[in-house]
Amino acid sequence: MELGARHGVKAMALTDHDTVDGLEEAAEAASRCGIGFVTGVEISVTWGETTVHVVGLGIDPGSAVLAEGLRSIQDGRLGRARRMAACLDALGIPGTLEAALALAGSEQRLSRTHFARHLAEVGAVKDTQRAFDKYLGKGKPAFVQHRWARLEDAVGWITGAGGIAVLAHPGRYGLKPLGRATLLDEFKRLGGEAIEVVTGSHRPEEYATWRRVAEEYGFLASRGSDFHGPGESPVEPGRLPPLPASLEPVWTRWAH
Ligand SMILES: [Zn+2]
Repeated sequence: MELGARHGVKAMALTDHDTVDGLEEAAEAASRCGIGFVTGVEISVTWGETTVHVVGLGIDPGSAVLAEGLRSIQDGRLGRARRMAACLDALGIPGTLEAALALAGSEQRLSRTHFARHLAEVGAVKDTQRAFDKYLGKGKPAFVQHRWARLEDAVGWITGAGGIAVLAHPGRYGLKPLGRATLLDEFKRLGGEAIEVVTGSHRPEEYATWRRVAEEYGFLASRGSDFHGPGESPVEPGRLPPLPASLEPVWTRWAH
């Protein structure tokens, strides 16, 4: 929040992966910095063979339906982490489960990012991105396939918690035109209302593509840094260009 405020951000959401932990702290920090705050979450979805992220904005963090849904996702995290650690062990890097757990602070929060941070810390790789490129990314030796939430469930939990479902960084899924159209149709039919157009996970030349998609489908548009932490993300909060003027920003739903 401090970083965003320093970069001139006027309102910001926190959307951590499959958890609403930290929203209260972030809201306090935002108010201290004098910027608006929007509650959020980013839900992992398995759609066919593709992992898709659905952001929920303006959610009620205390919603029981959302909490129950997130718990069902988190339950799978430890099993997956064990299998990743076993792969890394076989590759000659022992002890990663314990180390990643210590970094995550809890089983519920444990993710590939914590493994990546540990691998970077012990010098197995130069930085977290290289941990994904070499070990943890799809198709790499320590990648473990995991089934996340269904798309209809994720959208349902978000709307059930009073939030707006936003398809995160749609350009990142490597879908062919037909798959892309099918995903967008399904997302809209299920109650999805917005897509990210300008994000740290899109190349600048992709913005126009997703602007056209938002116009065509009548989606609200969102802008997200995809900032995970210092040194781990290409873009810091408040450093992306504005949304194309033709689009209606998702934040018009909340007055600041
Ligand atoms: Zn994401």
